[in-house]
Amino acid sequence: MGETVRACLRSVGLLHEDSVIEVEHPVRIRYGYPIYDHAYAQATGTIHEFLRRHGLAPAGRFGRWAYLSLEDSLLDGMRAAAECQTVPASALTG
Ligand SMILES: Cc1cc2nc3c(=O)[nH]c(=O)nc-3n(C[C@H](O)[C@H](O)[C@H](O)COP(=O)(O)OP(=O)(O)OC[C@H]3O[C@@H](n4cnc5c(N)ncnc54)[C@H](O)[C@@H]3O)c2cc1C
Repeated sequence: MGETVRACLRSVGLLHEDSVIEVEHPVRIRYGYPIYDHAYAQATGTIHEFLRRHGLAPAGRFGRWAYLSLEDSLLDGMRAAAECQTVPASALTG
């Protein structure tokens, strides 16, 4: 898998002959595609409400379990950071 990724990065000019790769950490994701089935709204609603009650702001494709692209995930991270600024300190410690 690593060689395939390196070849792709070379082909788009992000990796050069003199590039030094310091860390490689391939992760195989067992569940990568959120499926919006009939149980989706209730299941994710229950989890997200629990997280918010404990002062956690889920973000990104795997935090919100929503079909987000990379750019959606970046924006969602910014939204979550803004949301965290409004969470009362008691929710973070309780
Ligand atoms: C097969 C597949 C193909 C895709 N193709 C595209 C595409 O072509 N174009 C596109 O725009 N999007 C694509 N996406 C979507 C894109 O990859 C995701 O939307 C985006 O990467 C999600 O970002 P994220 O931050 O939610 O999660 P991730 O990118 O998974 O980042 C979460 C990070 O948090 C780390 N982490 C998790 N738990 C902890 C913890 N407890 N402590 C510390 N670190 C932790 C993980 O190791 C990971 O590095 C694809 C997704 C998949 C699965």
